[in-house]
Amino acid sequence: QKRQGKGRVGYFTETLRIQLQREFNLRDQLITAIEKEELRLVYQPIVNAKTGKPDAFEALLRWNSAFGPIAPDQFIPIAEQYGQIKSIGLWVLEQACQQAKTFQLISPNLTMCVNVSVAQFQDEDFIEQISAIFQKHDFDPSSLNIEITESFFASDKQGLMQKIKALQEMGVQISIDDFGTGYSSLSSMQDMGVDIVKIDKSFVDSIQGSGLSIITAVLLIAKELNYQVVAEGIETEEQANVLRDLNVTYLQGYYFSRPIESEQALEYLEAL
Ligand code: C2E
Ligand code: CA
Ligand code: CA
Ligand code: CA
Repeated sequence: QKRQGKGRVGYFTETLRIQLQREFNLRDQLITAIEKEELRLVYQPIVNAKTGKPDAFEALLRWNSAFGPIAPDQFIPIAEQYGQIKSIGLWVLEQACQQAKTFQLISPNLTMCVNVSVAQFQDEDFIEQISAIFQKHDFDPSSLNIEITESFFASDKQGLMQKIKALQEMGVQISIDDFGTGYSSLSSMQDMGVDIVKIDKSFVDSIQGSGLSIITAVLLIAKELNYQVVAEGIETEEQANVLRDLNVTYLQGYYFSRPIESEQALEYLEAL
């Protein structure tokens, strides 16, 4: 018995050790990921419910590491923890702005949506760095939409809200991502002062049940506060139809398109 207990502890320490080793390996690999050109962006259309055409693309990061492809849910938290998210995030923003200009040669009004972590916002130079990218590429800030998660509003509210305001004054749009999954209540939507609310996939998944009433409530408040609404993670025609009937402005999900490579995205726009 005793031996077995000891063995179990040994097993857990071993698992933990392997986990940590993996984390450190990923961290080390991430440091050189940009220069090794292992990172790239893929683009998922955000469709206008009325026209059926994309008004925007969301840029999503992909990492082809030495260990093979690693999902953002795996490496973004590590990049956030060990500080690489700042350089990676800037790389993402610059790539996305450049790509947006190429897309706009075909669809001039196209918006580019970029995910930005709280850790990036916390960087003192964030606003300056973003302005520098706009200048370098002669990029119109109103073509950029920054997606931040709801948890953003749980941390240092004052400082972060100021940066959001500064960005909005430059013309950048702000979306709140994964809405409804965090701790904030519907009433806190009022304080966020964002432009777009992205209803989380979990509510779209349960749209035949409890999801519907939550989506209806979000839509009501969004209308009151003048926010646009995006529903994400739409996988079926049924879900798309319910959301259209509810007058959701923008639709996104595998049903319309998976995230695609930039070349494919260009072809997609050309075919419209
Ligand atoms: P997110 O911002 O909520 O992005 C939506 C995720 O759901 C993406 O996964 C997308 O590929 C996936 N998705 C879209 N439509 C559907 C659908 O109909 N069904 C299903 N099952 N999934 C769908 P992905 O690309 O793996 O990204 C995961 C998360 O990683 C993102 O969630 C975002 O939080 C983060 N992320 C991705 N790229 C970046 C980035 O450049 N910077 C930062 N800070 N975070 C990023
Ligand atoms: Ca997002
Ligand atoms: Ca989301
Ligand atoms: Ca998410």
